[in-house]
Amino acid sequence: MIPMLDLKREYGYLKDRIDAALERVLTHQCWIMGPEVKELETRIAEFIGTEHAIGVASGTDALVLALRALALKRKRAEHWSPEDEIITTPFTFTATGDSILRAGATPVFVDIDPETFNIDPALVRAAVNEHTVGVIPVHLYGQACRMDEICLLARQHRLFVVEDVAQAFGASYEGVKCGAWGDAGAFSFFPSKNLGSFGDGGVVTTHDAELAALVEQLRKHGGKDKYNVEVLGYNSRLDTLQAAIVLAKLDCIDEFNKRRQQIAGQYSRELSGLVKVPASPQDGNHVFHQYTVRVRRENGLGRDAVAGRLKQEGVSSMVYYPVPLHRMKVFRDRQLVAGRLEESERATAEVLSLPIGPTLTDVEVGRVVAAVRSAASEVRSQTSEIGYQRPEHAD
Ligand SMILES: *Cc1c(COP(=O)(O)O)cnc(C)c1O
Repeated sequence: MIPMLDLKREYGYLKDRIDAALERVLTHQCWIMGPEVKELETRIAEFIGTEHAIGVASGTDALVLALRALALKRKRAEHWSPEDEIITTPFTFTATGDSILRAGATPVFVDIDPETFNIDPALVRAAVNEHTVGVIPVHLYGQACRMDEICLLARQHRLFVVEDVAQAFGASYEGVKCGAWGDAGAFSFFPSKNLGSFGDGGVVTTHDAELAALVEQLRKHGGKDKYNVEVLGYNSRLDTLQAAIVLAKLDCIDEFNKRRQQIAGQYSRELSGLVKVPASPQDGNHVFHQYTVRVRRENGLGRDAVAGRLKQEGVSSMVYYPVPLHRMKVFRDRQLVAGRLEESERATAEVLSLPIGPTLTDVEVGRVVAAVRSAASEVRSQTSEIGYQRPEHAD
């Protein structure tokens, strides 16, 4: 079976570096905020092009701490309040939306651009009102949002921008890295991300010294030091062992992202007549954390039937994401929805992500292509039986 991402093979490739990095930590035994944490923060700030980077316990915490630091900075309040609206996309991982709730604000979901699956800046503009405090663009699947438009709009309305960069380490827009455009960038080192650790971890990037100091304070219980606690914080430090692993992988991130882009190019050339392939990226604005196609109803193909056939052929595939956030119970009664979110709904019914990763071989890419080709023709010939069903949603 070709997995979505072969972490065992990646470890094999990096084994010497990672083992040496781990051994250094085992020897110095500085488990909590050891030297690797500071070193990684320095290297990431340099790589992304921000003044500051603050390691935290997860990508979710990176979002929550960035949002709470912004409440402290802009409102002198520990949390946002439910009247405060933060605009984001419903076509993302849950954490994007639940971090808004945990920071005390109300998420406002606006629809996506069907070409990129990313939030549509024109719809963000239409949703802004006097309650809006900020925007969270998500660089979904590794593709940068239209950050020039989003940041211009934010400046005009004095909104903050927190970028959700969990899936896009190393992606850039107009030559500026994702995570360096907004007031803050929130990154995740969850193992399956394109820069992953061997557990949970994350980082917040920012140009703003005040915000950086607040995030640092929040990650260690809310005090400037241990016994002068000023605000309600967290225990959300980046683990030293995870920092050591990410440091070892960071040396390869450009090489790994290039290989992902190369594989994506191969897929798109081979699959473009069969399924809807991603819009061709320019200037490194897509690092292909996921390679995601649409299986459209008009093609006579059912997405789930194609996924089933791929499995029979030994090829993994995944649906990111089958349920949009505005359909989830957790957001019910505490969300606002701008418009009908039709493109987000359609995307949940049509998307299918294929295996991609830095160690996937050309031969494996060929096997995936052949499997999609055979699934497409098979499903097409059985269309009348399989049909196309929209997922049932309880309203
Ligand atoms: C993974 C992910 C997160 C959360 O990161 P964790 O490290 O798992 O907490 C947030 N947003 C998006 C878009 C993600 O893909």
